[in-house]
Amino acid sequence: MRLSRYFLPVLKENPSEAQIVSHRYMLRAGMIKQQAAGIYSWLPLGFKVLKRVEEIVHQEQIRAGHIPLLMPTLQPADLWRESGRYDDYGQEMLRIKDRHDRDMLFGPTNEEMITDIFRSHVSSYKNLPLTLYHIQWKFRDEVRPRFGVMRGREFLMKDGYNFDLTREDALHAYNRHLVSYLRTYERMGLQAIPMRADSGPIGGDDTHEFLVLAETGESEVFYDAAVTDIRMGAREINYDDKAQCQSVMEEFTALYARTDETHDAALFEQVPAERRRSARGIEVGQIFYFGTKYSESMGATVVTPDGSRVPVEMGSHGIGVSRLLGAIIEANHDDKGIIWPEGVTPFHVGIVNLKQGDAGTDAACTEIYQALVAAGLDALYDDRDERAGAKFATMDLIGLPWRITIGPRGLSSGVVELTSRRTGVSTEFTAAEAVVKLLEIYAAH
Ligand code: ATP
Ligand code: MG
Repeated sequence: MRLSRYFLPVLKENPSEAQIVSHRYMLRAGMIKQQAAGIYSWLPLGFKVLKRVEEIVHQEQIRAGHIPLLMPTLQPADLWRESGRYDDYGQEMLRIKDRHDRDMLFGPTNEEMITDIFRSHVSSYKNLPLTLYHIQWKFRDEVRPRFGVMRGREFLMKDGYNFDLTREDALHAYNRHLVSYLRTYERMGLQAIPMRADSGPIGGDDTHEFLVLAETGESEVFYDAAVTDIRMGAREINYDDKAQCQSVMEEFTALYARTDETHDAALFEQVPAERRRSARGIEVGQIFYFGTKYSESMGATVVTPDGSRVPVEMGSHGIGVSRLLGAIIEANHDDKGIIWPEGVTPFHVGIVNLKQGDAGTDAACTEIYQALVAAGLDALYDDRDERAGAKFATMDLIGLPWRITIGPRGLSSGVVELTSRRTGVSTEFTAAEAVVKLLEIYAAH
């Protein structure tokens, strides 16, 4: 993409409504525009990152054996009357009437609807296990929408639902989600710590939230510092292997890590004093096992091998896809702007032409731009007629992890400069070498 033809409405001034850095940078980098409290348009740069985050979520869900579908954003109230949540959910639910005076709602979550799909089509244990998920816009009429996409009213969520014959199988589904979520966040350059949490309006016994540690986080958390040393890394996971998923789950949840809702001061005291931490965190996901809470009230039953009928065992599992952009920026920025992790960056590399209008420099930039595109890399070429300083400032703000700088001086000795946004370190390469270097870097992402 040539920047002169792109739509990147960057702001020079700090928007006064933004209280935290991710919100500020998303506005300044022209990623989002607020349309109403907690409701945003996703401008091209923000939309690109959102799609990349979404794609990682899809890939890791499919790897875990979970099946994508798509449910609507609007739901009939009757489904929610069956589970009893229509009255319970309260003011966060946006209720709407259609022209026939039927009660509708903008879905805040989809337990009822997925249970309805299941009961319409599945009636035997032979179709289990089954996990269905979608990535769809949700609406929750939050009292205090704030911090940009972090606490929106309309937001994008991945929500998945498992259906199993036995409690043991449903707990395997729980563990499978926990493991797949850990992989998902790590691919986005984030450490999200599973913490024992409270189940809230979803209901249920077992639940963990995934927290990214950040001063601006809304949750208060307490943990053993040793949990921050555990990584999934490149380990091979067989998602059908119950023992393996269980052992990864245990490894990540054995140490003390809780949100304030379930914090137990006496238990926390048992953590060695030098490892006891209290901090703040951003909730980027949550998994629940709730057994037959919805299947019983909504009549979702299956025939067992011995011919009897039982309510299906379920759980639900959510990732805050749009909130993740805020969390990633909170964890990856400096005073000049965003620093995208390679896994989610909107463009792989930016090209800065130091002398726009100079025939030789323009030609060299076009050539490397075309070589990058031909190699399958997504490049943003700043071909505007601007000072070098302004181009650098824009690149730093929008946070592409790599920048190629091309000017007459380097070209006279046959080199361009490749700079890491994170470290600021620049290295000289020939144009061809720079392309190879970037291909190597991105092969791992
Ligand atoms: P919170 O406690 O932050 O209000 P929640 O526990 O009500 O969230 P869940 O029902 O667990 O939310 O939804 C799954 C995920 O969706 C959350 O972990 C979070 O990342 C994201 N999410 C929830 N509410 C919002 C919101 N208002 N704006 C953006 N993302 C949200
Ligand atoms: Mg939650």
